[in-house]
Amino acid sequence: MVNLLQFDRDALGDWCEQQGEQPFRATQLFRWIHQRGARDFAAMTDLAKSFREKLVAGAEVAGLAVASEQVAEDGTIKWLFDVGGGDAVETVFIPEAGRGTLCISSQAGCAVNCRFCATGHQGFSRNLTTAEIVAQLWHAEFELRRRLALGEGERAITNVVMMGMGEPLQNYAALVPALKVMLDDHGYGLSRRRVTVSTSGVVPMIDRLRDDCPVALAVSLHAPDDALRDELVPLNRKYPIAELLAAARGYLSRAPRDFITIEYCMLDNVNDSPAQARALLALLRGDGSAANPGLPSKVNLIPFNPFAASGLERSPSERVAAFAKVLQDGGIVTTIRKTRGDDIAAACGQLAGEVRDRTRVAERRARAAAARVAAPASRRGGAVAAERGHRA
Ligand code: SAH
Ligand code: SF4
Repeated sequence: MVNLLQFDRDALGDWCEQQGEQPFRATQLFRWIHQRGARDFAAMTDLAKSFREKLVAGAEVAGLAVASEQVAEDGTIKWLFDVGGGDAVETVFIPEAGRGTLCISSQAGCAVNCRFCATGHQGFSRNLTTAEIVAQLWHAEFELRRRLALGEGERAITNVVMMGMGEPLQNYAALVPALKVMLDDHGYGLSRRRVTVSTSGVVPMIDRLRDDCPVALAVSLHAPDDALRDELVPLNRKYPIAELLAAARGYLSRAPRDFITIEYCMLDNVNDSPAQARALLALLRGDGSAANPGLPSKVNLIPFNPFAASGLERSPSERVAAFAKVLQDGGIVTTIRKTRGDDIAAACGQLAGEVRDRTRVAERRARAAAARVAAPASRRGGAVAAERGHRA
């Protein structure tokens, strides 16, 4: 059985052709699936009976198994989807006045292993397929339309952010067709500026996304210098800040917006000082020289959402406000993200699902922590370096 959720419209066209059908049939079929949420081929009465019979025999529209659903006090909904093999991923719907945002996962776990992220702490199991990425949207959109009793043509989900579990640019091949389904006028019809890919900084893939499917881009920076970013976002050792900002600048030539969103998770006494705010401002504003050209950007400060085992704390709100003011006074539009759904652990960085840790990151982390405890304070840097060496 082929799951039709895995195809963007071009690929569905190819598949239909292989079945001996005209390409325009693919558009009809695509609209049934992604505009009406249909899965029963027999009900697709504008398709020829012979084609419907072929579909029944060889194809399906297979959604994901819902393991649980939780609704927060503020109306945020979190679904846990069982994707088999002991893995489950989370998807979050965030209702706001006049819009509905869906936060979608791209991987079961994540291999980047950021220190402040619950997903990273779980380790990595596998990439999601295009069908599994699209199925999160398919499920949420049509489930919500039913519940909210929305009429034909009304949309529950107006914005998508690839900010759930996983690093979307480390699952590039599956990501791009899924984005195309979201953007397709015969699919979800979302504009490029309403679909955001958030990345911890996979530089070569930022370049490819610009060429293949430019949507809004958010870069998770979290630190104004390489020494600190190396510690918080280990991928920085491979793609340091200067390269990351250069890729972000390059992306702007085709981006649907004329700025890049910079995400910065506010960690108490780690990255939240006024001096660090000034360093970030200098980085983003630049000085007009070729060496430091800056980056047209908006900054989104995310108060850290704590989880057991991170050993980190959220910056006090006065410190977040002071940090924001430095940036705003320097001319950078800066917002502080409102935490949503934290009573059901649906806030940024709290998504953990269930993941078989095939990279054994949790084990390595425990070993490194034990080594740190065993080592005298003066050698702590050495323990971190050892952990780093292990990862490399
Ligand atoms: N892997 C991608 C997208 C998923 S994470 C990325 O890192 O960009 C989505 C956002 O949540 C990122 O900006 C990430 O840094 C942030 N985040 C992760 N853990 C967090 C936490 N515990 N509290 C607040 N934000 C967090
Ligand atoms: Fe992965 Fe993003 Fe979490 Fe880092 S913040 S571990 S890249 S999901």
